[in-house]
Amino acid sequence: MYLNYKKNLFQCYLKHKYFYGGNKNMLPAVDYLIVPDKGDPYLEGHKCNVCEAIFLGERTVCSKCFARDKMSKVKLSNNGTLYSYSIVYRSFPGIDVPYISALVDLEDGGTVKGNLINVEPDPDNVDFGMKVKVVYGDALGRKDKDGNSYMSYFFEPA
Ligand SMILES: [Zn+2]
Repeated sequence: MYLNYKKNLFQCYLKHKYFYGGNKNMLPAVDYLIVPDKGDPYLEGHKCNVCEAIFLGERTVCSKCFARDKMSKVKLSNNGTLYSYSIVYRSFPGIDVPYISALVDLEDGGTVKGNLINVEPDPDNVDFGMKVKVVYGDALGRKDKDGNSYMSYFFEPA
């Protein structure tokens, strides 16, 4: 009886942590990464209603066709192809190197820069045009002064 009680309490805790409060205290590392209270995080673009160009970050004027006040928010795809990459060997103190900095064209539009993970940083393992997917996770375990974690996005081979 007591064991059952403990077990239920634990399951309640897990349910609360992962289903109801999973993203709580996770702040997005960039403003175009949306972390809803419930549901999966996603990347957000702004799409021009005139020429359909997609940009990251909010803007009022389209950089492609110069239309004003014609931008609307759009949820970006989690699938894309590797457009270009660079293997980084020197970075800021505390950043593990080498890592792959990648430029990815997303399936329904939008080009996003981020790190390609779960691949050995060696040109033999990385191909231009390879299929990748966007994955979300803790931004290298860093926390702000209030103890909040940051959520970031990464690419990995699809
Ligand atoms: Zn436009």
